[in-house]
Amino acid sequence: MLSLRSVLENAQKNGVAVGHFNVADFVMLKAVFAAAHELKVPVIVGASEGERKFLGARQIAVMVRSLREEFDFPIFLNADHTHSLANAIEAAKAGFDSIVFDLSALPIEENVRQTKAAIEALKAINPNILIEGEIGDIGTGSEIHDAAPDLSKGLTSAEEAKQYVDATGVDILAPAVGNMHGMIQSMVQGKTKKRLDLARIAEIKKATGALITLHGASGTDDEDLRKAIAAGINVVHINTELRVAWRHGLDEALAKQPQEVVPYKILPAVVEAVKQVAASRLKLFNVLM
Ligand SMILES: [Zn+2]
Repeated sequence: MLSLRSVLENAQKNGVAVGHFNVADFVMLKAVFAAAHELKVPVIVGASEGERKFLGARQIAVMVRSLREEFDFPIFLNADHTHSLANAIEAAKAGFDSIVFDLSALPIEENVRQTKAAIEALKAINPNILIEGEIGDIGTGSEIHDAAPDLSKGLTSAEEAKQYVDATGVDILAPAVGNMHGMIQSMVQGKTKKRLDLARIAEIKKATGALITLHGASGTDDEDLRKAIAAGINVVHINTELRVAWRHGLDEALAKQPQEVVPYKILPAVVEAVKQVAASRLKLFNVLM
């Protein structure tokens, strides 16, 4: 079985990106796994602190590992946006393959100092765990926002990115390059799209040579995503689009069978709705379309 590091390095070599999809329940996990398994592409499942609180860090870790082992399949688990060392340690001990240690809200010097210390503590638990650090402002909350926040002042510069990667020794960098967590209503309807700062991505890649993740990619222009991957993005995070598919799929399934109470007769339609979104994104990220 390939390690997550080798999967990311292969993606880098092949000019593709690995899809990262957050899950909050077993329906979403089933859907993400089915999409990746059918397309035969590696995949990362993400669970944020809120998602872990609901799922149980150890429980989601066991479920993902069981899929990896039973199907001999490269599915990995990431502790998304972890804001405290205690929660990061819990994820490392539970067997997560990577952790996004997110202190981007702190001043950069403090972010560097605490991230560096966290890497030491976490690699002592699992030397193969990958730690992702974040700088810049990409907003919070993978949900539907009333208005898009102005994140233009929080964009990551190539110089800052290089200093941060060199000073911390993070395995992966999450910069702010026009991406944003969550979507606004017009994006859900497909009327507007997020646009990325492609030149900035290329500059950050050139300056750092690091593996780079694009967070908050739901609702982003497809052509921008293709170009961003070509410019050096190695992992693309999708959450809100899956949540929207989950909600719509559930609404539809319940409306179609108003008297049904058997979960395994209602929920397959929700799995299918989420799977379709995950599959469409995986095809794009892996240049299969
Ligand atoms: Zn994120």
